[in-house]
Amino acid sequence: MSENKSIKGGEFLIRETKAEDIFIPEEFDEEQRMIAQSCKDFNDRQVLPNIDTLDTHDRELSIKLMKEAGELGLLGISVPEEYGGFGQNFVTSMLTTEEMGKGYGFAVTFSAHTGIGTLPILYFGTEEQKKKYLPKLASGEYIGSYALTEAGAGSDPNSGTTNATLSEDGKHYILNGAKIWITNGGIADLFIVYAKIDDDKNLSAFIVERDTPGFTIGNEEEKMGIKAASTVQIYFDNVKIPAENLLGPRNGGFKIALYILNLGRIKLSGATVGAGKATITHSVQYANERKQFGQLISSFGAIKYKLAEMVIRNFASESLTYRASQNIDDASEALIAEGTEKDKADIEAIRQFAIEASIAKVFGSEALDYIVDEAVQTYGGMGYSAEMPVERAYRDSRINRIFEGTNEINRMLIVAELLKRGLKGELDLLTPAKAVAGELMQIPEFGSPAMDYFEEKRKYIVNFKKAILMVAGAALQKFTNTLQDEQEILMGVSDMIMCTYAAESTLLRIEKLSKMYDENKIGIYKDILNVHITDMAAKINKFGVDLVNYFAKGDEKQGMLMGMKRFTKVASVDVVSARRRIADKLIEDNQYNF
Ligand SMILES: Cc1cc2nc3c(=O)[nH]c(=O)nc-3n(C[C@H](O)[C@H](O)[C@H](O)COP(=O)(O)OP(=O)(O)OC[C@H]3O[C@@H](n4cnc5c(N)ncnc54)[C@H](O)[C@@H]3O)c2cc1C
Repeated sequence: MSENKSIKGGEFLIRETKAEDIFIPEEFDEEQRMIAQSCKDFNDRQVLPNIDTLDTHDRELSIKLMKEAGELGLLGISVPEEYGGFGQNFVTSMLTTEEMGKGYGFAVTFSAHTGIGTLPILYFGTEEQKKKYLPKLASGEYIGSYALTEAGAGSDPNSGTTNATLSEDGKHYILNGAKIWITNGGIADLFIVYAKIDDDKNLSAFIVERDTPGFTIGNEEEKMGIKAASTVQIYFDNVKIPAENLLGPRNGGFKIALYILNLGRIKLSGATVGAGKATITHSVQYANERKQFGQLISSFGAIKYKLAEMVIRNFASESLTYRASQNIDDASEALIAEGTEKDKADIEAIRQFAIEASIAKVFGSEALDYIVDEAVQTYGGMGYSAEMPVERAYRDSRINRIFEGTNEINRMLIVAELLKRGLKGELDLLTPAKAVAGELMQIPEFGSPAMDYFEEKRKYIVNFKKAILMVAGAALQKFTNTLQDEQEILMGVSDMIMCTYAAESTLLRIEKLSKMYDENKIGIYKDILNVHITDMAAKINKFGVDLVNYFAKGDEKQGMLMGMKRFTKVASVDVVSARRRIADKLIEDNQYNF
């Protein structure tokens, strides 16, 4: 592996990445595309024609479709061959998640099963547990689910009160309590349940089978969206769990829950990319049919703006999601090469990229919410009709900002995790932060040497990172021990980080594409990049300036405001014409094809 490929999680903030060192979705090989095609065929033939019925909480149909997905091998993509799966790498599993993401609420059934329902056993199970359960989960004989949330324990899951006690003969754990909002709960055979043993400080995890006496499953929740996915409460009344069904060590469940959530977060972002592409296609096809004032609405600038903006946001989200996914694969491979066992290597790789996983989750869910909202608007009154696909897309998208850790919690995690790694010495944030503070004292150089197109954009990214280090460094100095209570700062810095990661990932993807495509074909991607970078610079500036105005005073404030201006300065671009060209391509293709 090249030096640059071995980047650490979070390190993007203090290190330049080369275009050749990131993975871009255009590089998927034939086999990976065939797997994605199987998912597409399954969605097109089995899921989408049945989506209205699935939305009526038809549990039998959900189970039938899951079993069919299992027969086609779609549930075992990440499961090693020895346990009945295909043992594909992470980035391939992300491609399937993206494709299945076009299946509305069924996508949630699918990804809860293959992700948070299956992976705890794959990564933390004993050999016996893996042998017993993984083949059934991979084939669809068993459907999995993940039960962490309780009425009083949502964003703070470790505060749950579901309790387990070891029986006197040591053969069973006796489980009591209740869980809420459990995806797949109504159709699942297997539940990964988190509970505290006696007065333990942390949760432990248990594998609970559906038919265990004392375990009951509630009615389907009536939800705003993802109606096709089963969501229920579950209850434990002196449920006897065999002692060998403790998953991972006692007190170790909270850690398992967090690791699995990291995975769930980046997978969620993959699903939003797929849902985004499908929604953009619906939008442009409608706009290419609907006439008002004697013209197709796709000819109106107001509609073109929406269409282009949908494309740009989804493209950025896709770029950063696959970049981070390949980082996880690379990190795991490097650990395996050093002698680490595969499971442990995967777990450590996912932990390493927790920051990127949170970024992907927040960016992807917010991009999709923008896309579905503007899709409804593009359809006008018809967008409000339950007969139209964008109405369902609009309702189904909203949950993504809430589950797998709310976007607020994920934003805070991004900054907290970076600071933690800085303090532990895993990331040297101090040296570059000091260098930026020093640079602020110097008189800026006027006029810069001539740079080529991508070099210039890379320079912007370097400056965005300086803006982050400047604001975060000064905030940390000011609120050394109380920064965690300054949530507006954490949110703002987090947004600056996300904008930068998105801009850099989009830039690197398009730079890599520029080596694959001719000048003619790359033009439209440069339009995407020009608009995106312009927007990200303005956003970073706004977040930074707001924070500086809050916590800095006098000369320090003036210096930092000037710094913000300098670090977010980008060349003026005619974004109106660029967006029109992006929309025109979409309109001509009559489908998402970027
Ligand atoms: C349809 C659906 C499916 C779900 N599926 C599952 C599942 O399969 N398994 C499972 O275990 N759970 C599941 N969940 C639960 C989900 O993960 C939680 O709803 C989510 O974590 C938020 O918890 P909460 O609802 O208790 O909100 P709360 O934690 O009460 O949060 C309310 C608001 O306060 C904010 N907030 C909370 N704490 C802080 C803080 N410290 N600082 C700043 N703001 C804060 C939140 O961001 C949010 O805006 C599901 C939920 C839904 C709705």
